[in-house]
Amino acid sequence: MKSGIIDRDQLVKRVTDAGGQWDVLVIGGGASGLGIALEAVTRGYKTLLLEQYDFAKGTSSRSTKLVHGGVRYLAQGDIALVREASIERGLLQKNAPHLVKNQTFIVPVYSFWDRIKYTIGLKAYDWIAGRLSLGSSVFISRKKTLAAIPDVRSKGLVGGVLYHDGQFDDSRLALNLAQTIIEQGGVAVNYMKVTALEKGPEQQPAGVIVEDTERGASYKVKAKTVINATGVFVDDILRMDNPVAAKSVVASQGIHLVLDKSFFSSAHALMIPKTNDGRVLFAVPWHNEVVVGTTDTLVGAPSVEPRPLEKEIEFILETAGAYLLKKPARKDVLSVFAGLRPLAAPKEGAQKTKEISRSHKIMISPNGLFTIIGGKWTTYRKMGEDMMNSVEKKQGWPAKATQTPDLRIHGFAMGMDWSDPFYFYGSDAADIKAKSNGHWISERLKINKAQVEWAVTHEMARTVEDVLARRTRALLLDARESIRISTEVATIMAGILNQDEQWVKDEVKRFDGLAQQYILQ
Ligand SMILES: Cc1cc2nc3c(=O)[nH]c(=O)nc-3n(C[C@H](O)[C@H](O)[C@H](O)COP(=O)(O)OP(=O)(O)OC[C@H]3O[C@@H](n4cnc5c(N)ncnc54)[C@H](O)[C@@H]3O)c2cc1C
Repeated sequence: MKSGIIDRDQLVKRVTDAGGQWDVLVIGGGASGLGIALEAVTRGYKTLLLEQYDFAKGTSSRSTKLVHGGVRYLAQGDIALVREASIERGLLQKNAPHLVKNQTFIVPVYSFWDRIKYTIGLKAYDWIAGRLSLGSSVFISRKKTLAAIPDVRSKGLVGGVLYHDGQFDDSRLALNLAQTIIEQGGVAVNYMKVTALEKGPEQQPAGVIVEDTERGASYKVKAKTVINATGVFVDDILRMDNPVAAKSVVASQGIHLVLDKSFFSSAHALMIPKTNDGRVLFAVPWHNEVVVGTTDTLVGAPSVEPRPLEKEIEFILETAGAYLLKKPARKDVLSVFAGLRPLAAPKEGAQKTKEISRSHKIMISPNGLFTIIGGKWTTYRKMGEDMMNSVEKKQGWPAKATQTPDLRIHGFAMGMDWSDPFYFYGSDAADIKAKSNGHWISERLKINKAQVEWAVTHEMARTVEDVLARRTRALLLDARESIRISTEVATIMAGILNQDEQWVKDEVKRFDGLAQQYILQ
């Protein structure tokens, strides 16, 4: 790979010309799959990751953007999960300091008992994290709370509890992980859909059939180990292994509304630990806007583009309106996005989704297909480590030590200026700035031509959506603005990808149609 340039055609060639077998083949390019592939390649295994759409197209670009110990898991008494997530939060901040920011949160307190409860609870949160805590939590007076978060309701306010957690950019991390896998000698390719499993003489998964959806060509790929990391779609792959496999995952939808900073102008984030229906609500500053969410609604068949439900939108608008001085209305929403949590299906009876464990689960089918479900972005590295330990054990391979706790992720850079609109490129920012000519495609979202070119040449972007949803975050930050710039983006991309005018038209039509779903009418 010359100066970070990634040629997808070359990668596809490596998939099919591998001449023999891959040691580890991972299906799914979200947090789980990327974490596993990075763990495998850094242990020295010949590693391939296949993603049917784009990296992080699924749940992994639709999170609340928190690298967190999980305050609410503490409330549920799951101390082991909080401890594990706190360790991983610290490791991620150490290895990707260009993407993970130490974020202060304030819980506004409206009663004496809440003051006691949240002060003790958040002190316990610090204590569990130990030396990996990002900072001490502290009770602050009513006056200081109002100075820090002037946009919250002041009536009845007693004070606030300030604590620290991590905040990140989810799809940028996914891309940087794919780049790191490739730099370590592995192959990670997008738009490669696994359509079937290949079986060995004893029915063990021995590879896959994969369709390059860009070219419409299908290939057989051999592998010693096949790992299913397809999030809410794991049951599709499990049924390729065993057509009558039991359902192992349930999907719980969470949505977010993106609002202009004027609704919550603080640099601190707002955390409401218990909304009137017992959920947690966050308002988190993100790329100059504010992300408000989330919900937790069990849904039926999973979709790659989940649609927010009216009742979810109403819930967030109402709850945010109950705490913020300026009440948001539908017309104020810049973008709405929905994601599906892949939760391990509970063994018996229906549970509330809030109560289903958020820790990950590794399963090995009787034929030997490895599957991972559950977990969260914050613990993606540990999920990879646990999976590769299971693989080595089951395959009888010598146990290798993990390398990832100290592995720097592509883009690693220290001392970030978070107000720099290009901060999330980390060590790549200087090169991109050097190619920029001062013309903004979107001045509001700070997107220029050099970024679009870079997304295609260095970050494997193939479609307008790849650039506007996941290389930059335009679609999630301001869906109308992303529609306004889609033609210019498509035209720049076509020049590099050798595509014609028809491609530009098709791409713009496809993207604009999708972006309409992120707009509230
Ligand atoms: C609303 C919400 C908020 C969240 N907030 C946070 C948060 O703030 N912090 C945190 O730590 N975690 C958070 N999480 C959890 C976290 O986002 C998820 O646990 C994580 O992203 C799941 O990643 P995954 O790789 O398992 O699934 P996905 O990201 O969905 O990835 C699975 C991938 O597999 C691909 N795939 C499926 N079938 C095939 C096939 N046949 N061939 C090839 N590829 C295939 C899909 O296209 C998809 O890209 C949140 C989740 C939700 C829903």
